[in-house]
Amino acid sequence: MVSKRDQVKILLMSKRKPEITKRQQQLLNELKNCTDELSGQELHRQLHNGEKAMGLTTVYRNLQVLVKQGLIRSRHLPNGEVLYAPVERDIHHLTCVSCGETTRLKGCPVKTMDLSKNTSKNFELLFHTLEYFGLCQTCSQQLNAG
Ligand SMILES: [Zn+2]
Ligand SMILES: [Zn+2]
Repeated sequence: MVSKRDQVKILLMSKRKPEITKRQQQLLNELKNCTDELSGQELHRQLHNGEKAMGLTTVYRNLQVLVKQGLIRSRHLPNGEVLYAPVERDIHHLTCVSCGETTRLKGCPVKTMDLSKNTSKNFELLFHTLEYFGLCQTCSQQLNAG
């Protein structure tokens, strides 16, 4: 029998350091080794070529766990696709709502913002997300021409 005190101890230990499985570590490594964001499909395809192959549902399930543990972040595109990247990577995009084309923004517009005054002491900030949506040059021209 595990005593109540031991149970608390186990809980605290698991809280301090997120326990991740071998598969989750593999996905995390793939994302860290890639300079761009990857979708679940792309991760599935990349792992498929090696001995680390895992099913698509397994990929998505483990990605969900990594998001919950604050190790990776997800970005939803207007076409329903979800892209994943490690949380420490500070990248923002301009996304065209018409054709879905995304352009990487140079630098981070909110990095210099001082949040310390606004965030409570009880909140440990891990990462932020920022998305811009609009029309790309091609789509904008097409709309104006029609
Ligand atoms: Zn467009
Ligand atoms: Zn940023």
